[in-house]
Amino acid sequence: MQEQQKIQMVDLHGQYMRIKAEVDAAVAEVIDSSAFINGPAVGRFASALAQYTGAAHVIPCGNGTDALQIALMALGLKPGDEVIVPAFTYVASAEVIALLGLRPILVDVDRETFNTDIRFIERVLTPRTRAVIPVHLFGQSCDMAPILDFAAAHGLYVVEDNAQSLGAVYTFPDGRRRHTGTLGHIGCTSFFPSKNLGCYGDGGALFTDDPALAERIRMTANHGQKVKYHHDIVGCNSRLDTIQAAVLEIKLRHLDEYCSARREAAARYRSLLDGVDALELPAEAPFSTHVYHQYTLKIRGGLRDALKDFLASRGIPSMVYYPLPLHRQKAYAGDGRGLKFAEELADSVLSLPMHTELDGQMQEMIAETVREFFRR
Ligand SMILES: *Cc1c(COP(=O)(O)O)cnc(C)c1O
Repeated sequence: MQEQQKIQMVDLHGQYMRIKAEVDAAVAEVIDSSAFINGPAVGRFASALAQYTGAAHVIPCGNGTDALQIALMALGLKPGDEVIVPAFTYVASAEVIALLGLRPILVDVDRETFNTDIRFIERVLTPRTRAVIPVHLFGQSCDMAPILDFAAAHGLYVVEDNAQSLGAVYTFPDGRRRHTGTLGHIGCTSFFPSKNLGCYGDGGALFTDDPALAERIRMTANHGQKVKYHHDIVGCNSRLDTIQAAVLEIKLRHLDEYCSARREAAARYRSLLDGVDALELPAEAPFSTHVYHQYTLKIRGGLRDALKDFLASRGIPSMVYYPLPLHRQKAYAGDGRGLKFAEELADSVLSLPMHTELDGQMQEMIAETVREFFRR
């Protein structure tokens, strides 16, 4: 048999090897300067990210979950306030709502795009609704224009969870284009290593165009202080450390390449897997670019787990994002009424390896193994 490179879900090491000299020098420089906290790279990276996304203000923080928590704190939401959040997503957005004593109101997602959708948001509006957290899942934008219009009409805040879709661009019905994360009152993202822009540890950031909110966010992330040892509001401690900022400063220059590599890999999967009856390939929404944080299939006929096991037996990793909708988690248990697609997707989705270092040969191997499973 031919010598085969091991296929990974995400290849962080391969990606590092391409920029090793640059990254090593930048990290060494931070250590040499010993400016570990709030060193110059933090401000430089925040400015570069603001320029890249078009956000007026970018405030770095410790991780993506902190970003969501800081957003809700900075908006001054009060215990009992209702915050709308999708049932089919990573736990972080619902978790910070609950942690702050707010009420997570779970809504269904669009079956084709996996994303938060206005038609489900409209149904759960009450006089206590204060905010909505659309999650741009797997690499493309939610359809934001109707969500923003609805929020404006009802005085709701919009906090985008953009942890998976940094680099994606949304097109408004009038043709205006803006980066995800800059569409609502506040955008939140994560630099967890496997994210599209990942650092070498934990990191996150918030985006806003509103200068007053930017100041509240900065204060909230810094113990509620503007002037050292003067604590005007209750805050927390959440910082992006300088070494991570130095890594991110370099990787941000490559983000467009990284997104293109993911899109090319997705296009290859599409051509290799097209025509397999039991598969639904990912749908690209007309109003968003897709930066393919995940390449997520829907498997018909209840065969998802069997396919996953078959791939594993051939040394091909795959992942189920996410195996349980939030209302089936013990901590967020609910009756699941109106969450039909969230349930269906949790039972049928399977994400294939997707990263910037995938090559055609690996993808042919993966696709051929998928086809073999359905031929048996
Ligand atoms: C990764 C992720 C987060 C949390 O980011 P961390 O940096 O791990 O705290 C939040 N929401 C979504 C959708 C994510 O994928």
